[in-house]
Amino acid sequence: MREIIDQLNFFSEIGVTHLNLEKSSFPASLEEIREEIGDCTRCKLCQTRKNIVFGVGNPAADLMFVGEAPGADEDAQGVPFVGRAGQLLTRIIESIGVSRDQVYIANILKCRPPGNRDPEAEEVATCEGFLFQQIQVIAPKVMVALGRYAAQTLLRSETPISRMRGQFFEFAGGLLIPTYHPAYLLRNPSAKRQVWEDMKAVRDKLKELNSSFYGV
Ligand code: URA
Repeated sequence: MREIIDQLNFFSEIGVTHLNLEKSSFPASLEEIREEIGDCTRCKLCQTRKNIVFGVGNPAADLMFVGEAPGADEDAQGVPFVGRAGQLLTRIIESIGVSRDQVYIANILKCRPPGNRDPEAEEVATCEGFLFQQIQVIAPKVMVALGRYAAQTLLRSETPISRMRGQFFEFAGGLLIPTYHPAYLLRNPSAKRQVWEDMKAVRDKLKELNSSFYGV
């Protein structure tokens, strides 16, 4: 019951005023969501993308990472976080004794904005519902928003990432903690220490919530 209330509060906070309660509007699996997306032409990014980058990982993950949008490497391979920033993300995940396969990784947008520009509001509005459906199916205990864009978009906030990072926010029936984006860390290696602090907080929170990742 508590989870249903959290979910409804979440929908209300993001401005949803009507819910279609037909059974078919609740996807039962990630495969169903992927099928619904199809060969998407809902926004103009379809004209320049090579591949839709749906998301990868454990469909029952306790921990989920959400980035901004695919870059060139991700667009070429159809897999999120596989470029240099992605390799660093893999090491960040492993730093708390969890493997990349155990978590789920996705982005707010499923298609690459040309030239890696910021996503446009209309693109986010068109695409983010699929991410919310993925979150509903996976039901992670903890989500990590990677970088300013993901954190501000998900939390509907304009607070700078430097002030939000390291704090847990209630989000979509779980907890969401913003941290710096791995691409930012490649440019500012001194911020790695803060990401390490944030990841230790994630590990402690998962233990507190009896995550199976830690053998509880
Ligand atoms: N940056 C992101 O935000 N997402 C990716 O998948 C790759 C780089």
